[in-house]
Amino acid sequence: MNQIKIYNDYSTWIRKQFNERVQKISVDAGFTCPNRNGTKGIGGCIYCDNKTFSPAYCSSGKSITQQLNEGIDFFSEKYPAQKYIAYFQAYTNTYANSNILEKYYNEALSHPKVIGLAISTRPDCVNDDILNLISQLSKMHFVTLEFGIESTSDKTLKLINRCHNFEDSKNAILKASALGITIAAHLILGLPGESKEQIVKHAEIISGLPISILKLHQLQIIKDTKLAQMFEQNPEFVIIYTANEYINLAIDFIEQLSPDIIIERFTSESPREKIIAPNWNGLKNFEIIAQIRKRLIERDTWQGKFYYAK
Ligand code: SF4
Repeated sequence: MNQIKIYNDYSTWIRKQFNERVQKISVDAGFTCPNRNGTKGIGGCIYCDNKTFSPAYCSSGKSITQQLNEGIDFFSEKYPAQKYIAYFQAYTNTYANSNILEKYYNEALSHPKVIGLAISTRPDCVNDDILNLISQLSKMHFVTLEFGIESTSDKTLKLINRCHNFEDSKNAILKASALGITIAAHLILGLPGESKEQIVKHAEIISGLPISILKLHQLQIIKDTKLAQMFEQNPEFVIIYTANEYINLAIDFIEQLSPDIIIERFTSESPREKIIAPNWNGLKNFEIIAQIRKRLIERDTWQGKFYYAK
């Protein structure tokens, strides 16, 4: 296999869709999350600290248009000609009625440089009205609906206080996919209580779902989260992978993953000063990707090597 085919990477795929570079711009529409405001749970997922994934230009105090303009100004210094996807990222971006969502989504889509939407949400936070709205928008624009699955194990989902189970994820994905919506999914590798075998098994399970795009992240222990407290009380609670161990784990994972699934990320990059563990000396996502590519070749392996369609 040549270097391009060793895994199905998002940046190549998205460039092919639009024949040019496409950049996501995070926008914060001011939503909260039902797992933080008491509707589903209080305090949120044990690892959650939304501040770690909101860039400076992204703030719910500004309009969607203003956030997009500032984000585009920021990125266009480096890449003057490119297209943009408005990324509704912070908290739960379907957590409002469909009229309000429609207003926000359309504001983003009416920006002349925006060619589509990425909408991040929880699997228990989409109803028929919302899915129909997203399905309608999908017919006219590039739209992905990104579900936080995190794990396929209900035991783990309970432990991390997700306040939904894997059945919720499956149902939401199947329903959205049946309406023609492109599905992205988010999984965390290395959640508490999961062995390497269990982590790799997630790949086999999610390969059976109609997921187009996958984002993998290492578990990070962020200051001032519930997970940080738990880790302080019991450091054995979490396995802390070195960068090298994580690279091998990610490769073991993608060997079992359907080769049709596009991989958008392998890691997350929280601000260094906020991370308690793991300490990877500031390794960036692109550096991890370069190491994963190199290791795939060294191991003579590729995405889907051990995947068998059922
Ligand atoms: S669902 Fe997302 S926003 Fe809500 S608590 Fe969990 S990680 Fe945080």
